[in-house]
Amino acid sequence: MRREFFLSVLLCLPAPAADADLILHHAKIITVDTAFRVVEAIAIKSGRITATGTSADILRAERGPRTKVVDLGGKTVLPGLTDAHVHALEAGLSEYRKTLPALDSIAAIQDYIRAAARSRPKGSWIVVPRTLPPRLREKRFPTKQDLDVAADHPVAFDGSYVWGANSLALKMSGITRDTPNPPGGEIVKGADGEPNGILRNASQLLKGAVGSETFSDEDKVAALGKMLQIYAAAGLTAVGDRAVTPMEVAVFEKLKQRQELPVRVTLTWRINAARPVEQVVSEIRASSWTTNQGDDWLRFGAFKVTLDGGQSVGTAYQRMPYGPFGRQLYGQTDPDARGTLFVDPEKLYRIMRAARDKGWQLTAHVQGGAAIDVLLDVFERLDREKPISASRSHVLHGSFMSEDALNRMQRMGVLVDVQPGWLHFDVPALERVFGLEHMRYFFPLRSYIDRGIIVAGGSDHMIGHDKNTAVNPFNPFFNMWASITRRTREGEVIYPEEKITRQEALKMWTIWAAYLQFREKTGGSLEPGKFADMVVIDRDYLSCAEDDIRRIEPVATILNGKTVWGRL
Ligand SMILES: [Zn+2]
Repeated sequence: MRREFFLSVLLCLPAPAADADLILHHAKIITVDTAFRVVEAIAIKSGRITATGTSADILRAERGPRTKVVDLGGKTVLPGLTDAHVHALEAGLSEYRKTLPALDSIAAIQDYIRAAARSRPKGSWIVVPRTLPPRLREKRFPTKQDLDVAADHPVAFDGSYVWGANSLALKMSGITRDTPNPPGGEIVKGADGEPNGILRNASQLLKGAVGSETFSDEDKVAALGKMLQIYAAAGLTAVGDRAVTPMEVAVFEKLKQRQELPVRVTLTWRINAARPVEQVVSEIRASSWTTNQGDDWLRFGAFKVTLDGGQSVGTAYQRMPYGPFGRQLYGQTDPDARGTLFVDPEKLYRIMRAARDKGWQLTAHVQGGAAIDVLLDVFERLDREKPISASRSHVLHGSFMSEDALNRMQRMGVLVDVQPGWLHFDVPALERVFGLEHMRYFFPLRSYIDRGIIVAGGSDHMIGHDKNTAVNPFNPFFNMWASITRRTREGEVIYPEEKITRQEALKMWTIWAAYLQFREKTGGSLEPGKFADMVVIDRDYLSCAEDDIRRIEPVATILNGKTVWGRL
């Protein structure tokens, strides 16, 4: 009797009260779940997704008296995007005090110099901010004649490891045809035997060019916070910072303590490998850091070594020589030069083994093909000792792939972090350096995906705050567009057989990037139980005209259920 009474009371109770914090409905929500389902509505509670489905079902089942309900009027919603490769603090500081111009031609550089000369006293240095020569319209490194547009000022051009100087800068620094080359560097000469202004690994000869700009700890926290806000405005809800030192970790931790992280951050610890191997190994062993340490806001991802230089500056370690065009583009005087390997294979093995033994996910900056091969040799040695696939170790950049390297990655379960934006910006110049045939496996996205290799999309953003003109542009929609079209800035489609679909490009900036960061159980798609990280955009990613993809703009970025940028 009594039991029946209780049972009837239970049956009379209403269903648990629906009480979502937020419902977005009348939308086109691209979930990026395994079936790539598109739904109309999504419900969010306490920062997590509680349900997805039709507008009618979600409003009926999830709406409570305090639920905020937003009719999106048919707008498209994507999972919050992840840029797997940025350098947030460096980028944040680059325009913290001043705005940098977009320098895409020698004429633009000359305008910059003339404007700078007008605003400062005669005799003071003008340093042209870092610019990558393949991105200059002229595809050549500026010489002293190009920089001689402000006769009263010494001018230096920052091309990373190669610098340019004007006539006055050479004179003030005492650089003449008789000046000996510094160790490992070169004062490049013109046809007349005089220095032509190009200084390879020799910028230290410029007396007074490098400013002593310093930033306080508080400046760094503010600059990083601002940069992360700009990422959120671009539709990103997670980034991978790819080269942190203990100083940078401290800056990120300060922002986190203040609860001012507008995106989730996964940190890659880059160690300085240019030291005796015993020293590097003992630093790894002594460190308290390892992969997956941290929480859902700030955590450690990979351990990184920089193995070669950059294709943009003629130091990527290649299987083939840079050839005669390398002289024009990089001021390279040896046509047989193949770039530079910074860490020899045996040393790399010992460093990576120590990191593996500490539980790290492994990666290395490798752009040239020969550097990729060295890294994969080391991965294979480690893989023979103990399979490495569970560590989700990966190739970073891997610009000049090969069929053989692809097969080895597939066999070992090695992932990749790619920069498809370089297809657009750098192919026209690189094609002239190496020849079209050597561009066959330049970011071979189709080949990766067909082999089941997980591909994470990244920009390698390092300088500038503007998502479209920064070096490198971090607008995720531009980078997805570049992955889909493979269209260079000269209009050529480079190896169309390596094109991928819109769905695949979106996965590179969502679920696959999350997988590389060990976050696929909580992010990367819009499914019940996962964090409510998403971006509302101004047009339909799946059906807009192909060239419109790069012009997509976020309307609102939602992180952990809260609008961190824009308006709903
Ligand atoms: Zn990088």
